[in-house]
Amino acid sequence: MATTATKLGAIHHKILDLLKATPTGLTIYEIRDQIADLDVQQHLDKRVRELRYTHKVPLRRIGGKAVYVYEGEREEGLSDGGHISSALRAKLLHAAHGKCQMCGRTIADDDIKLEIDHKIPRNWGGLTVEENLWAICGLCNGGKRDFFATFNDDEMTRILAKDSVYERIAETLRIYEGSPTPAWLLQFVANADDFQEDWQKRLRELRYPVIGYEIAASRRKNPAGKWEAAYTLREWKPLPENHKFLIKEFERVNRKARSN
Ligand SMILES: [Zn+2]
Repeated sequence: MATTATKLGAIHHKILDLLKATPTGLTIYEIRDQIADLDVQQHLDKRVRELRYTHKVPLRRIGGKAVYVYEGEREEGLSDGGHISSALRAKLLHAAHGKCQMCGRTIADDDIKLEIDHKIPRNWGGLTVEENLWAICGLCNGGKRDFFATFNDDEMTRILAKDSVYERIAETLRIYEGSPTPAWLLQFVANADDFQEDWQKRLRELRYPVIGYEIAASRRKNPAGKWEAAYTLREWKPLPENHKFLIKEFERVNRKARSN
């Protein structure tokens, strides 16, 4: 996914023009309404997501609506071979306020050094973009690397390329079924194509009886010896093709039952 940088076509430019013309952002439906081509309409989500390789087009929640907002071109492209500019490095270190973003230990109190790390590694398709980078201590970075080495790179690349956030989370949980999967990994996997994804809500939805995942909140000791939030998959069945529809339907019926 990352190594094959997307070439922008006419449709991408059309979407960019629409977003640039509306600084307050557009929902996916509003964008769809302004695009006549039926075939494009069907794959619109994907086309919008492809823009993120070259542009900052985050999905933001504004006034109760999820809207795509145009925030400019990416300075750090994908063809950078994973190189992180010194300006970006400085920005990320500044944003961390001297604190490991994984274990919370600080430079001031714990004599740690911070390292800039790809949240989703490049060999799983992770991008060298601000949203996929964080500042963590050497211990956490080493522990994360060891933990990730137990995963199959091809399998993770396949999971992360999936369109459905539910499939990405579900398949990641299934890798260590019965054992805790760190919350941060689920968050990264959820955010793989939308850096604003509400991953905790997605987890709750997987637990709906129509989907049937039994996911227990648990804990896991991280390499720095600190307990971190984790989730353990206890029961699952294959996700139905129409899982998004089933989740929406379940919510609709429940809302109706509550209001009666
Ligand atoms: Zn740490």
